[in-house]
Amino acid sequence: MSLSLPPQAHGHLGHTDPDCLFCKIVAGKIPSKVVYQDDEIFVFHDIHPWAPVHFLMIPKVHIPSLAHVGEAHVGLLGRMMVLASKLALQEGCNPYPEGGFRLLSNTGAEGGQEVHHLHIHVMGGPRPWIKS
Ligand code: 5GP
Ligand code: ZN
Repeated sequence: MSLSLPPQAHGHLGHTDPDCLFCKIVAGKIPSKVVYQDDEIFVFHDIHPWAPVHFLMIPKVHIPSLAHVGEAHVGLLGRMMVLASKLALQEGCNPYPEGGFRLLSNTGAEGGQEVHHLHIHVMGGPRPWIKS
């Protein structure tokens, strides 16, 4: 498989932004309830959960959004997807198919993105949720 890289995909590997909220959380400058971390991925609870289980998965490097990823990020994104399922169960989501979970990555203003560091919301747990 070959994917074409958007121009903005270059230059983001290894980069952090000192003014970015989520970069500060990764660096420990702002406290968070950490779920998981490894060399490239950081996972923490959302400060305003709208489901019984609600955590955020982010790359440790500063990638502004899903609109900025390219071929260089395929492995990272794949690992985040695989990890989402494992951590959802660990954090209290019920098993598929009666349980399950939802992934969401708001991208850009019209996508509802407020924090411009790529993140995947993982939500689950018994209904009702604050937002459906
Ligand atoms: P977005 O709307 O950009 O997809 O979502 C950003 C998410 O980050 C929101 O759900 C919001 O509650 C969460 N958030 C914003 N500031 C903080 C913070 O300081 N700590 C944590 N843990 N979550 C935050
Ligand atoms: Zn950042």
